[in-house]
Amino acid sequence: MLSVNNIRVVFNNVIMVLKGISLEVPDKSVVALLGANGAGKTTTLKAISGIVQYQNGEVEEGEIRYDQNSITSLDPDRIVRMGISLVPEGRRVFEDLSVAENLRIGAHTQQDRKQVSRDLEMVLEYFPLLRERFKQRALLLSGGEQQMLVIGRALMARPKLLMLDEPSLGLAPLVVKEIFRILARINRERGTSLLLVEQNALIALKFAQYGYIMENGKIVLDGSSQTLMENEDIKEFYLGVT
Ligand code: ATP
Repeated sequence: MLSVNNIRVVFNNVIMVLKGISLEVPDKSVVALLGANGAGKTTTLKAISGIVQYQNGEVEEGEIRYDQNSITSLDPDRIVRMGISLVPEGRRVFEDLSVAENLRIGAHTQQDRKQVSRDLEMVLEYFPLLRERFKQRALLLSGGEQQMLVIGRALMARPKLLMLDEPSLGLAPLVVKEIFRILARINRERGTSLLLVEQNALIALKFAQYGYIMENGKIVLDGSSQTLMENEDIKEFYLGVT
């Protein structure tokens, strides 16, 4: 289980972006982290994955624990090896490399070549479109295929917890549906837990079991997805229904 305990994150020693965030992602669960632009969702994922310290940021208080270990401010590579992978927002593929090469880069923490081949096959099974495009340059993929590629690349590190930053952004509804269908399968079949950051609260709450709502660097509300979907404020501000 991942547990984030009251972390504060400061950039350039002055700007406090996370003002005491606590959240939990139990093993095998799907948890959504919601909130408006600039609330601090991306920073939360970057703090967990150890990246903030490379962007002039610091976890100056609080602790992040994973499976009994403190992982606060560990090297990002170590955090990946411990089983936590991040799919960053913006579908950053290596455009000049092929789909196959992009996927293999995701396995850079793995030593066992046979295992890497098996993992590659597993990813292609989940994402058959990537098999069709295996030798093509990533630049030539559609937005949806690029999103599949970055998720596939993260899976190559064999994560137990996969964190996804806005996977639906800018994609057509049918493509989003397909990607979430595959994510649900990965969660169900591999027991991979998912921490999902989304602007689209409806998609996220339908998909997750539990949700946290962030505003201005704090968690202002949390609960089961069902409870959150019935909450009047959430309906009005996040789901666009009254
Ligand atoms: P979005 O959906 O727009 O990504 P978010 O909830 O993920 O929103 P963050 O990206 O975490 O929000 O940003 C929260 C705040 O932190 C913003 O005001 C942003 O300008 C600031 N911030 C993020 N990264 C840095 C940084 N490296 N240096 C200074 N400020 C930063």
